[in-house]
Amino acid sequence: MRMAYRTAIAWDDFLLELATVLLLHKSSLLIGGACFLYVRFQSGKSEGLGLMAMSFILLAIGSTIAGQGERQAFPLYAWTLSTFSLGQLAYSLFWIGLRRLSSGTPRRRDWLVLVYPAVLSAVAVLTDFHLVNLYRAVVFQSSAGLFMLAYAHTAIHDCRKERLPARYPLAASFGISALLHALVIVSLIAPERSPFDIADIFFPMILSQFAVALFALIFVKERAEARLTALLQTDPLTQIRNRHWFFQQLRPAPSIGDAFVIIDIDHFKRVNDTLGHAAGDEVLVRVAAEMSGRLQKQDAFARLGGEEFGLYLPARHGRSAQAVAEALRDAVQSLEINHADARIPVTISAGLATATPGQPMKDLMRAADMALYQAKRHGRNRVEQFDPDQAMTLPTVTDPPSFPAVGHAA
Ligand code: GH3
Ligand code: MG
Ligand code: MG
Repeated sequence: MRMAYRTAIAWDDFLLELATVLLLHKSSLLIGGACFLYVRFQSGKSEGLGLMAMSFILLAIGSTIAGQGERQAFPLYAWTLSTFSLGQLAYSLFWIGLRRLSSGTPRRRDWLVLVYPAVLSAVAVLTDFHLVNLYRAVVFQSSAGLFMLAYAHTAIHDCRKERLPARYPLAASFGISALLHALVIVSLIAPERSPFDIADIFFPMILSQFAVALFALIFVKERAEARLTALLQTDPLTQIRNRHWFFQQLRPAPSIGDAFVIIDIDHFKRVNDTLGHAAGDEVLVRVAAEMSGRLQKQDAFARLGGEEFGLYLPARHGRSAQAVAEALRDAVQSLEINHADARIPVTISAGLATATPGQPMKDLMRAADMALYQAKRHGRNRVEQFDPDQAMTLPTVTDPPSFPAVGHAA
């Protein structure tokens, strides 16, 4: 939306022609739109980026038509109404796209926002307010400012669901844009009271446009990385953490009193052999969900492989590892897992070791593994604490290739 601006923008040490600034403004929209399109087609997923690209491109087209219109290339009625409507449509599409991007899921109801540009355009047709530069500019800028606030809210809103750092600078860029639109409105309505000339606000607006495009793309990158990391740390069958994540949590030297628990499903092979592999998988999924649901967020718990799970309870959490392991054992024993109308009885055994002064993590894991061996030997469905005296009589535990010290010898 162009008004009668100064023909040049002066800062302390440089001078920009207004025509250059307007060209920069259009370029920032086209470059942003092109970047959105590139990422959209490169990733093969839209996630709202297509709509955001379309919005930037529509704004650039609107800006071009307005420029030509002011040079009398088009009839006044046609260019003022079309640029006004295009702008409102573009801001609405960006809102739908951003909500899609931010939430990660399409929401059909968001398309209702298109009623907004339709209504504003209808009001323009009915009242002809778009023919008056000041009215058109004030309505346009007010609408743009409100959209910027809505965008900032959208970027922050889903933060609890998906914490990505880029949400904050993205929201800040929208917030700054909203402020700039407000300054333009003040300069339009009361130019003598405004500390800025409208032309001075153009350049920061261009920068905020670039910032929006940049942080939106960083957002996409952060999301892709977060998804890859989650994939790397999640066991595909049970959807709990995997051994890769588990061993990343452990420090080489445990604190005194930290507890390491190895949990193993009893006679699991029988389930596979008698009821089939699918039933075995079902048991794994249910047992994993039951145990992880009963633990606290700060407990490190993962499927280490096969039917074996690891649990690490730091001493500072102050809970009795024996009690925690017993509660898990009890919960699994009470699980109702049915196959072909018959209940599959499932129990677990657990080996527990508590860190002693100067004990390396490898030894603690080995001690828990030996305790598990004892639990199996003493009849299963039990939690056994590591006993150093009995350990002397146990056979040597051999380490599996990618598992530094644990590998129960049942
Ligand atoms: P114990 O009480 O001594 O632990 O006996 P067990 O039968 O549970 O132990 P064993 O190590 O003999 O058998 C474990 C079985 O787990 C063997 C393997 O085929 C099975 N298994 C490992 N991973 C999976 C899996 O992802 N799905 C299924 N269904 N079975 C698995
Ligand atoms: Mg087992
Ligand atoms: Mg096992």
